[in-house]
Amino acid sequence: MHPIQMVDLKKQYAKIKGEVDSSLHDVLDSAAFINGKPVSDFADNLSKYLGIKHVIPCANGTDALQIAMMALGLQPGDEVITPSFTYVATTEVIALLRLQPVFVEVDPKTFCIEASAIEKAITPKTRAIVPVHLYGQSADMEAIQAIAKKHNLFVIEDNAQAIGSDFRFSDGSLKKTGTIGDIGTTSFFPSKNLGCYGDGGAIFTDDDSLANRLRMIANHGQSKRYYHDLVGCNSRLDTLQAAVLNVKLKSLDAYIDARRKAADFYDSAFANHSKISTPFRASYSKHVFHQYTLILEGIDRDGLNKFLADNDIPSMIYYPVPAHRQQMFAEFGGSKFELKKTDWLTERVISLPMHTELDQDQLSYISSKVLEFANK
Ligand SMILES: *Cc1c(COP(=O)(O)O)cnc(C)c1O
Repeated sequence: MHPIQMVDLKKQYAKIKGEVDSSLHDVLDSAAFINGKPVSDFADNLSKYLGIKHVIPCANGTDALQIAMMALGLQPGDEVITPSFTYVATTEVIALLRLQPVFVEVDPKTFCIEASAIEKAITPKTRAIVPVHLYGQSADMEAIQAIAKKHNLFVIEDNAQAIGSDFRFSDGSLKKTGTIGDIGTTSFFPSKNLGCYGDGGAIFTDDDSLANRLRMIANHGQSKRYYHDLVGCNSRLDTLQAAVLNVKLKSLDAYIDARRKAADFYDSAFANHSKISTPFRASYSKHVFHQYTLILEGIDRDGLNKFLADNDIPSMIYYPVPAHRQQMFAEFGGSKFELKKTDWLTERVISLPMHTELDQDQLSYISSKVLEFANK
């Protein structure tokens, strides 16, 4: 059996090596390392794929969130509602800009921000909502957009884990996640569903003037060369990374299918187990399985993590400490938030290997070892 990894990027690369290598060599030959043609090509390709007017490439998914918040003109002390059960980047940029993070619960079924909790957290200082499409499943964007509209709030979708996912509105229309709120952001970190071979990120919007501000902020606030109208930063996608992404974008839907097939395998292996809950699939969205995350009840989660490691199976706890309990947020009153569902999930979740190259032998070996431990 091929060794099992959380994410098998070597095996994935082997299948596209010819095309990736030749695109990289084209960049080397052109020496256009900064803002070369592959960067604008990629922005066009991704905007077509997502069905959105503007894609602004940037250096990573964390910068994408920061630039989004800067472009909306949020001021220190403004409140931003976000889940605590997420990767730290989402919440960190709120604090970095001296905004006030307001942590709310996630729905333990979808792992995504709970719409009813958002409404309760709104105050006169609230300016924005940042839902995270965690593990590859969309938050309930129809409910979130309705709340945002009612209270005149901005919505920034952190789509780092769900690129390619669809959201189905109650009128039957479909939109890609990340294209529903005012701004969407994503990351091309190598292990993401659409990953490059280093760091990368992008920002999406349909709004022309917002797109203009986002572009300026990502480029030193520059309106024309050496004229700087806004305080910005320097955040670019490397031409070499764009060249990789142009190749990989063509396979994104196939990659999603492969992840969904692996998830189907796991789902049936653990079906109806009294102590294991498999990922819920919301009827309103297409789960793209960035992670395959179980909830365990009455099973020693950390014991399973170790047992799997002893059997050469990696597994991960995403995430062992929710944002509101991170020391980083002490000065923002993190500990005053009482988030029982978030704490409950934090103690029970475990993510199994999930990537595009898992084969049947690996999947059945992983499942059998999980069940062996669960049934002990
Ligand atoms: C990966 C990730 C980010 C940050 O992306 P980087 O490219 O590593 O900066 C932000 N939010 C979520 C939910 C992520 O998973």
